[in-house]
Amino acid sequence: MKVSPIGLGTVKLGRDQGVKYPDSFIIPDDREAANLLALCHDLGINLLDTAPAYGRSEERLGPLLRGQRDRWLICSKVGEEFDNQTGQSHFDFTPEHIRLSVERSLRRLETDVIDLMLVHSDGNDMDIIRRYGVLELLDDLKTEGKIRAGGMSTKTVEGGIETLKRSDVAMVTYNLSHAEELPVIDYAQQHDKGILVKKALASGHACLRDEQDPVQASFDFIFAHPGVSSAIIGTINPLHLRSNAAAVEKALGL
Ligand code: NAP
Repeated sequence: MKVSPIGLGTVKLGRDQGVKYPDSFIIPDDREAANLLALCHDLGINLLDTAPAYGRSEERLGPLLRGQRDRWLICSKVGEEFDNQTGQSHFDFTPEHIRLSVERSLRRLETDVIDLMLVHSDGNDMDIIRRYGVLELLDDLKTEGKIRAGGMSTKTVEGGIETLKRSDVAMVTYNLSHAEELPVIDYAQQHDKGILVKKALASGHACLRDEQDPVQASFDFIFAHPGVSSAIIGTINPLHLRSNAAAVEKALGL
C-alpha cells in the first residue's frame, strides 16, 4: 500500500462534541465535504482516516465516496464507540464486538474491504493486546479478506512497539510538544512497519505557537523522521488543506 504523506482525518465530518480543538466549528454539509474530498484527490492525498468513534463520519463517507472507492485507502477503527446522544465514549475489545464493528464499518463505508483497521486504544494498550488478542483477530480478518492491513492507535511506547511486533501499523501521537512516542517510530523504521501520526498539529494547538511558521515547523519536525508513513491531519478548511500539502512538500524537499 502506498499512502500519501498526509491523510485526511475525518473527526470533524462526523462529530462536534467531546473534541479538544482550540475553536468551535460547524460540521461541513455534504457539498462542502465532497469539495474537501475532491481537493484532497487533486492534491494527491489518497488516505482517509475514520472511525466509529467519530460520530457520523463513516456513514457519511460511504455515500460521499460512491463511484470513487478505488481512489482511496480507507483507515477505520474498532474498539471505541461514541454515543451521539450523550457525547460519551465506551470501549469494547471483545472478539464478538470487533467482528460486528468491522461488518458495520464495511456496510457504512459501502465497501467490501477496508484497507487498514486499527484498534482504537483507551490507553491500556498492553492489556488490550494481551487480554483480548485483538491483533491476532485482525490477522484473521485479513485472511478472510475483510481488511488489508491491521494495527493499533496506541498511547504508550510499549504498546506501540508490541503492536508493530504483531501487526502492520501503529498510529502514534507525534508533534512539537509530544515526542515521547519517538521510540515507536524508530522501531517501525528498523523493522519496515507503518507509522501514521495523529495530532500532528496537536489538534490545532501547535498552530497557535509563538513562532514564525508553526505549521511548517510541525511538518519539518515530523517528516525529519524517515519512519513516518503519513500524518493524518484533521482539517475541514480547504485553505488549510492546501497550505498543509504545500508545507509537507517543502518538508520532504519535493
Ligand atoms: P490535528 O490534525 O493535529 O489538528 C487538527 C486541527 O488543526 C483542526 O482544528 C484544524 O482546524 C487545525 N488546522 C489544520 N491545519 C491547519 C492550518 N494549516 N492552520 C491552522 N489550523 C489548522 O488533530 P486531530 O484532528 O486531533 O487529529 C487528526 C486526525 O487524527 C483526526 O481527524 C483523526 O482522524 C485522527 N485521530 C485519531 C485518534 C486516535 O486515537 N486514533 C485520536 C485523535 C485523532 P481547521 O479544520 O480549521 O483546519
